[in-house]
Amino acid sequence: MASDAPTPMMAQYLEIKEATPGALLFYRMGDFYEMFFDDAVAAAEALDIALTKRGKHLGEDIAMCGVPVHSADGYLLTLIRKGFRVAVCEQMEDPAEAKKRGSKSVVKREVVRLVTPGTLTEDALLEARRHNFLAAFAEVRDQSALAWADISTGEFRVMPLPLMRLGPELARLAPREVLVPDARERELAEIVESMGAAVTPLSRGSFDSTSGADRLTDLFRVETLDAFGSFERAEISAMAALVDYLGITQKGRLPLLRAPVREAADRVVQIDAATRRNLELTRSLSGGRDGSLLAAIDRTATAAGARLLERRLTSPSRDLELIRSRHHAVAHLVNERGLAQDLRNDLRGVPDIDRALSRLALDRGGPRDLAAIRAGLEGGDAIAARLSVDGMPAVLSRAAEALTGHDALLDALDQALVAEPPLLLRDGNFIAPGFDGDLDEARTLRDEGRGVIAGMQAQYAELAGIQSLKIKHNNVLGYFIETTATHAEKMLAAPLSATFIHRQTTANAVRFTTTDLSELETRILNAGSRALEIEKRLFESLRARVVDAAQDIHAAARALAEIDLSAGLAEIARAEDWSHPRVDDSRAFEVEAGRHPVVEQALRRQGGEPFIANDCALSDGTAPSSVWLLTGPNMAGKSTFLRQNALIALLAQAGSFVPAASAHIGMVSQIFSRVGAADDLARGRSTFMVEMVETAAILNQADDRALVILDEIGRGTATYDGLSIAWATLEHLHDANRARALFATHYHELTRLADRLPGVRNATVAVKEFEGDVIFLHEVRQGAADRSYGVQVARLAGLPPAVVERARVVLEALEQGEREGGSAAQKALIDDLPLFSAAPPPAPVAKTAPSEAEARLRDIHPDELTPLEALKLVYDLKKLT
Ligand code: ADP
Repeated sequence: MASDAPTPMMAQYLEIKEATPGALLFYRMGDFYEMFFDDAVAAAEALDIALTKRGKHLGEDIAMCGVPVHSADGYLLTLIRKGFRVAVCEQMEDPAEAKKRGSKSVVKREVVRLVTPGTLTEDALLEARRHNFLAAFAEVRDQSALAWADISTGEFRVMPLPLMRLGPELARLAPREVLVPDARERELAEIVESMGAAVTPLSRGSFDSTSGADRLTDLFRVETLDAFGSFERAEISAMAALVDYLGITQKGRLPLLRAPVREAADRVVQIDAATRRNLELTRSLSGGRDGSLLAAIDRTATAAGARLLERRLTSPSRDLELIRSRHHAVAHLVNERGLAQDLRNDLRGVPDIDRALSRLALDRGGPRDLAAIRAGLEGGDAIAARLSVDGMPAVLSRAAEALTGHDALLDALDQALVAEPPLLLRDGNFIAPGFDGDLDEARTLRDEGRGVIAGMQAQYAELAGIQSLKIKHNNVLGYFIETTATHAEKMLAAPLSATFIHRQTTANAVRFTTTDLSELETRILNAGSRALEIEKRLFESLRARVVDAAQDIHAAARALAEIDLSAGLAEIARAEDWSHPRVDDSRAFEVEAGRHPVVEQALRRQGGEPFIANDCALSDGTAPSSVWLLTGPNMAGKSTFLRQNALIALLAQAGSFVPAASAHIGMVSQIFSRVGAADDLARGRSTFMVEMVETAAILNQADDRALVILDEIGRGTATYDGLSIAWATLEHLHDANRARALFATHYHELTRLADRLPGVRNATVAVKEFEGDVIFLHEVRQGAADRSYGVQVARLAGLPPAVVERARVVLEALEQGEREGGSAAQKALIDDLPLFSAAPPPAPVAKTAPSEAEARLRDIHPDELTPLEALKLVYDLKKLT
């Protein structure tokens, strides 16, 4: 039936929709992106916009909703955050073209891009100070590998990776989207999604390592991939899938990826997901950046510097030379305060050139991106000049080198561009006057058209002898000559009618044109579009130049980030009085007067007690392993102490100074941090099981260079179970793993282990008792805690006095029982405890015969009492007591 046949437009829509499965289709119609059918229903709900109808399909109303093109970014962001992918379909021709082909003809449309979480490039969609990684996990026979890229900056890396390490590695990189072979989607989705990333399955073809190698050599225009190192098949497969997907989402326009860098897992400190969470490296336990180590120490001036800081913190190095050279740079800037200030000032004016470059490469950039490259290179020039002096640490002098030698490009951009170009290409007016003769001419004609028109008006006024004759402009007629009705007759008659051609008569005016005027009009109009065309051509050639120089620009961007990071770390080191750590190949772990950077800052903000610095010396050079067993009441500062030492090691190897008076760290290969289940309740899993699984991971993986911090392990189960698990764990760490470890526990029984195991030392966080209250000194001392002060802490927390008193009695009984030996004696003591000795016994409850007062009360009916009777009753009752 004819009415069932879709309209030509709907037919086009359905065809395109079918070709982009799994994505919402943004279908461009004039100034809107429209969505239809189920897409419309889903998008209207996700975006909270109105759902309407448009026509019918197969007898049913077609659901529709739309977003204006000019504000589409915001809607896109919401959709991406809510887990949608969006195919953006544009009109590929002027609707007028389509009309020329016939009334039934539809405007040509094409999907120009698939927007997914891992493939964003617009500033509006990205977090400036964070990377936006897309990753791909591939398996080829018994090998597997992970590749990842940030297309907004060009970063591209790969490494062999056993499946077992996929979770930890995703925790480190925090990618937004992970590509997996579709046959493995079900198994891998769980790991990927638990790390907060979206899973995208791809067919086997995308992962094929043979055709993939060709794809990669084509992309990087090299004969063989050996140019970048030797890769395993799985690595090639992962990289190939990634590049293939970029081709799919960017519709053939490949982003500017840098040559792939092979990352070796053994060059960075291994930190698993639980440890990252626990140490609150980049996110606090409550989820945000605030409260994290990253937020506390970030003093970088640029977004690229901030991204580099995050990379360093999440992947501290194990390369001694590298670590030392980075410290050296920070040290230099700590000492040369003036230089550091100047650099930071310069850096503040440097835009995000990585992201500008990436947009230009994808042809999504505008004049402002060119200006960003110019400003970046210009800033780089000034910075290089400051750093090109003798005695500069290698990190900084190498960076300075990468910032020089861009003069030709810089000059070209500088000559071509105006000072502050507009964002969009179509706005024009970004090429500087004097740069291109044709452009200047076209612009003159366009801009001076007004002057020419004014001259023409004077000329016609004289010719017609009508002083009030005007040349005006409107959108319907364009330019026209207008006179009042009274003068019109003269112009409609010969000889003037030979020149003036009548166009329109309105209520009180008559409008004319002339051949000259319409010619001039065409020239003015043409001049405008001609000027824009010339500008577009010039933009294109500048863009090509910039893209050609991509490698050098990337290197400059990287250098700026490195300088920014060094200066930022110097700034925090100076402001917070951090020290230059000594890192070497030993097994030392000596921290003098260490502090927890985040807690310290928080205490300062609260303006209360200052942070108490504490030493930690895990290596005394005699024992094969060094474990501190830390006891002390809750709230004394055990967790803080544990974490601060892990953070000091991590900061040192990330190339930063450390919050301590001095620190000597023997290279750490792995950091593990676990917290007993009770602290982890918020995550709502079978907590004890999680705790044990995580503890098992440490015992199975920690090597003798690992740093392990365990906080109240075993707490999630019954006392004796917990104690035995903690006991065995500590022994294993000491004997088998031989790791350096800090172990906080409330099981005092464990302190006896120090006598048996040579590497175990007891330490305690000191408290003072004052008039029955406990005062936290936050001082870590040698020796075991004398007691746990739980009762006192409970009192501080506001438990009712009767309960606190009762607890004290029970505790005394238990302790006495322990002294007198055996649980039988203990039990007898507990049975003997006087019931409710401290609190007054509560009034006996019912069941016994009612008292006289109760009997009286039962008999009264309040509704029937007068106020006076009520008062009398109260007196009577009172007498009964
Ligand atoms: P625990 O693990 O022993 O229960 P925490 O480490 O959680 O104790 O510390 C409890 C609180 O004590 C922290 O929130 C912090 O405010 C404070 N605190 C911890 N260590 C110190 C310190 N060294 N100096 C000052 N205050 C501290």
